[in-house]
Amino acid sequence: MFVLVAVAVVCLAQSAVAQVSAAPVRTIDARAAGNLERTRFVIDLEEAVEFAAFTLADPYRVVIDVPELDFSELAENSRDGRGLVGTFRYGLIAKGKSRMVLDLTEPVNIDESFVLESLEGQPARLVFDLVPASRKEFLEGVGKLKSVGNLPTKAPLASVPTPKGPGKMVIVLDPGHGGIDDGAIGPGGTKEKDLVLQFTMDVRDALKRHGGFEVLMTRDDDTFIALDERVEFARTNGAQLMVSIHADTVTQAYVSGATVYTLDETASDDLARMLADKENRSDTIAGVELADKPDEVADILIDLARRETKNLSISFARRLLGDIKPAMKLNKNPRRSADFRVLTAPDVPSVLVELGYLSNSGDEKLLGSPEWRKKVAARFASSIETFFSRMSKNSG
Ligand SMILES: [Zn+2]
Repeated sequence: MFVLVAVAVVCLAQSAVAQVSAAPVRTIDARAAGNLERTRFVIDLEEAVEFAAFTLADPYRVVIDVPELDFSELAENSRDGRGLVGTFRYGLIAKGKSRMVLDLTEPVNIDESFVLESLEGQPARLVFDLVPASRKEFLEGVGKLKSVGNLPTKAPLASVPTPKGPGKMVIVLDPGHGGIDDGAIGPGGTKEKDLVLQFTMDVRDALKRHGGFEVLMTRDDDTFIALDERVEFARTNGAQLMVSIHADTVTQAYVSGATVYTLDETASDDLARMLADKENRSDTIAGVELADKPDEVADILIDLARRETKNLSISFARRLLGDIKPAMKLNKNPRRSADFRVLTAPDVPSVLVELGYLSNSGDEKLLGSPEWRKKVAARFASSIETFFSRMSKNSG
């Protein structure tokens, strides 16, 4: 009971912050028009927002997910539908997210849907054209993303990492910590931030020798970068893979060897959870105020991307472990998962590698050796190259 109360208080505090940062867009009107052959559902808004729509059966419904909207101006009697739309409902579904549900008079297809920006005094509009469908057709599409409305000014949210045509694939290498945040410090005085930067530059150089893809680094000097900025960097550069490099300390000096992590809200074990907590403290150490994330549109869109991304992340993690095994010592449980904030890009496959543990004197010595670094960096590079060549084959 006590725990429940504590959680509720935290949630309240967070939503209070969110309200200050972004006012919900005003909804001016929502209405259905047309007939049983074709029904148009229109939402008039103060300004355009993105949406994602999907369908649910029994009863037949169309669900429209949007960022948080202010519905206070909608009259109660405006909930009556017309044609294929019987009635509709709306409200806040989660922090920062609203949902509109259309109750249908029969199964439909979303024939067309789009966003119109506000123009010459006209409100912005979300438009959905519905046409009748058979129950069978409807059931086949249930729960799947049926339509997506992106704002023309914004880059569409990539649901699946797509190679940029004949252009180069992009990899983001992410050396942990930096600047004011030293990361871990080994008994011999090695700073994690310096060591991982050195190693990451070795991987970059090895990758450049392979050619064929663009290698970007979140930092190539001793600068602090917030965790969310690292994630954003990978996303805005359209990366097909992000590899974060770390070498932490743990209290058990006997723990040694490399570990490859993927994202999971539930940590695979205590060590994984403890390390994720530690790495996630980076921003706190640097005194970065945790900004509210911009309202991510449409849960379903993000969820679809996330599933695909998760599979690719896991497949790369396995490949990497197999490729580096002959060249370096692995932890006795080398494949783990935990809630690392730097791995949360919904559309960029991401892994975090703990090269070893600076708390272990053997690891600290190895990681400090330029020969060791070069040898292992070359393995990383060829593993990344194989992953990319498989990926472009699959999508091509
Ligand atoms: Zn670290």
